[in-house]
This record gives sequence, structure tokens and C-alpha cells, in this order.
Amino acid sequence: MSNYNWCHGPNCHTNHTQSRVRGSGDNKVLRTIKIKEGGSYRTHERYHMFNYFCGNNCLFDFIRLHLTSIVAIAPRREALETPIKVEKEKYESYRYEWNSNDEHRRVPYMATRTTIKSVDND
Ligand SMILES: [Zn+2]
Repeated sequence: MSNYNWCHGPNCHTNHTQSRVRGSGDNKVLRTIKIKEGGSYRTHERYHMFNYFCGNNCLFDFIRLHLTSIVAIAPRREALETPIKVEKEKYESYRYEWNSNDEHRRVPYMATRTTIKSVDND
């Protein structure tokens, strides 16, 4: 048994694509896309939203239409913070210098690399 969803995009049924055409003769319509749940890449958690939307356009149309309601589900009233450690380390790098004969040479210099590290805060 397979489960299907209709695309939740509010304008899905207005897109002029052959895949949406249903009916015959003078009774043709553009119909909302039917999505097979868990099909192909939609099983991957990262793409679960595409069990409900046929593509990015429909997903963003939905978000635009319902933005206020969506944000109200989990409002962010204050900033969150992640403890980190910022490490700076010097390392030798090179830059190139060209002379008037269009010849170049490698010139060493000390560069600084900044790395953001996670911190355990138990
Ligand atoms: Zn759609």
C-alpha cells in the first residue's frame, strides 16, 4: 500500500505543465500534483518536505502564504547562543610578486588562520 499526498503549494494547480493536465476534450483542467510518499530521495530526512511539495516553488509559495502561522508555531523571542572557542594560529603562506618582465616569484609571509571550535558545555 502506497500513500499519496497532494502538493500543498497554493498555486500548484495553476502551473502550465503537461504533468498537471487531466480530463478530456473541452473538460481539461490543471490539477495539483500528486506525490508518492517516501518515493526516491524523499526518504532522506533532509528532503522529507518534498513528500508534501512537488518542488521549491510550491514550498516557498506555501511559506509565503502561511508565514505568520508557521512562525507562531515556534516563535523565537530571544537569541540562542552556542559556546565556542576561537583559535588563531599562524602559518607560513606565500604570495606572488610580479616584476616588470612579467616574471613572478613566491614570497613567503606569516598568515593567520582563525578556526571556530565547538565546546562541550555539560
Ligand atoms: Zn506543487
